[in-house]
Amino acid sequence: TYVIAEPCVDLLDKACIEECPVDCIYEGGRMMYIHPDECVDCGACEPVCPVEAIYYEDDVPDQWTAYTKANVDFFDEL
Ligand code: SF4
Repeated sequence: TYVIAEPCVDLLDKACIEECPVDCIYEGGRMMYIHPDECVDCGACEPVCPVEAIYYEDDVPDQWTAYTKANVDFFDEL
């Protein structure tokens, strides 16, 4: 799955939403989140993010790995 990390916080550009073929990117509070079970790993969202907030789960920079769990937890708490 793909993960949205810190650069999205308080920005919420939402360019990614337009690209996602399965509509699995959701707005939640201060950032956008990708539903880990709905994402089909197409990668379409990653290049359109103006702040490079989106990463494949194995490629999330070390300082933002907590966001991988945050994207999961967001949907668990709904
Ligand atoms: Fe949607 Fe594809 Fe991005 Fe997953 S990788 S969130 S399916 S656009």
